[in-house]
Amino acid sequence: MLVESPSLEKEFNPWLSAEARFDEAANRLGLDEGLRKVLNMPAREITVHIPVQLDDGRIEVFTGYRVQHSIARGPAKGGIRFAPDVTLDEIRALAAWMTWKCAVVNIPFGGGKGGVICEPSILSNAELEKITRRYTAEILDFIGPERDVPAPDVNTNEQTMAWIMDTYSMHVRHTVTAVVTGKPLNLGGSRGRVEATGRGCMIVTQQALKQFRLDPSDTRVVVQGFGNVGSMAAKLMARAGFKIVAVIEWDGAVYNPHGLDIPALINHRQETGSITGFREAEDIDRRDAMFLECDVLLPAARENVITSENADRIRCKILCEGANGPTTYVADSILQDKKIFVIPDILANAGGVTVSYFEWVQDRQGFFWNEQLVNGRLEEIMVNSFRDIVEYADKHGVNNRIAAYMVALDRVAFAIKLRGIYA
Ligand code: GLU
Repeated sequence: MLVESPSLEKEFNPWLSAEARFDEAANRLGLDEGLRKVLNMPAREITVHIPVQLDDGRIEVFTGYRVQHSIARGPAKGGIRFAPDVTLDEIRALAAWMTWKCAVVNIPFGGGKGGVICEPSILSNAELEKITRRYTAEILDFIGPERDVPAPDVNTNEQTMAWIMDTYSMHVRHTVTAVVTGKPLNLGGSRGRVEATGRGCMIVTQQALKQFRLDPSDTRVVVQGFGNVGSMAAKLMARAGFKIVAVIEWDGAVYNPHGLDIPALINHRQETGSITGFREAEDIDRRDAMFLECDVLLPAARENVITSENADRIRCKILCEGANGPTTYVADSILQDKKIFVIPDILANAGGVTVSYFEWVQDRQGFFWNEQLVNGRLEEIMVNSFRDIVEYADKHGVNNRIAAYMVALDRVAFAIKLRGIYA
């Protein structure tokens, strides 16, 4: 049940946030007690300790996880992140969110997530490759096109996926492209995958704008996090006429009330290593930037950005959650009281896994689609899913997040009921 005033430690535990929303949705659905138990626990959790010889000859041991929350609707699906503060509870929550996300957009996958505790910024490419390959080797029996299909996430990318694909393929002694998604284009990747999460964010935001009768050219967007999701969303939204007035990163924030030139900002970051000091923009305090008055706030980095401590200072009309779990469950009710239209993560950022699904289908068929086809099919799924959730929320008098959870839980529970419990 929702805890009234939890400690910050509890509030910031993503698994407790995932559970609190799950409980509320399950209660409203009147979900069977047994199914509830099944859905609330990850099906499988793997912990591995990965010995790696570093460039200086020392041996270091890294800890990695892969959690498969559910395979009720298909193979587990979800990214792998590399970060120093990865915890099992975080990976558990992210795996559960993948289950609900795939169900919201109705693609035939369950949910999984992986993580390795490491600091990629101080590791060489060779060290990252060794960590990736050994991690893959340790979880090899549990992944595969029909079992569990990893993808990129925080601090992992196309190159990481190519190493995973190669390691898996070397072990099974033939090339298996469909074991991971988010691969480079010439190794079985899909057109449109790199932009897909950002594109999905843009599509659902465009749908939400209709409810506010707002035109993109009058829409001020603040983007928090300028990694794959944030930078691609900003680029595509700017191209569609939105004004990206601020971008916030870990080391600073830039502001231009007339809209930032996003391709130039991406170049600037590439050249200087930071978004700060960008021409035609003002450097502003990164701690205040999220509270700028705007139409759309797009958190696109990590969890726990909007919390009980700051939610009352958020001044947007629409919150589009590009990241997974950017809002704590305690902050949900504050946003609701402020009448902020929330496009929850499991809907807003589902564009990535949707195109991952397209990639998996293309790999298995050995037949590749053009970008127009990928983007057209993505658009159709995102628009329909947005409509389903918003209509469900209206009909049942719940907020969009709980509506998304209810739709997802219902779909996954239905699959389990039909399959029955194997004994
Ligand atoms: N890491 C992305 C997410 O959190 C993509 C997952 C995937 O494509 O499997 O949705």
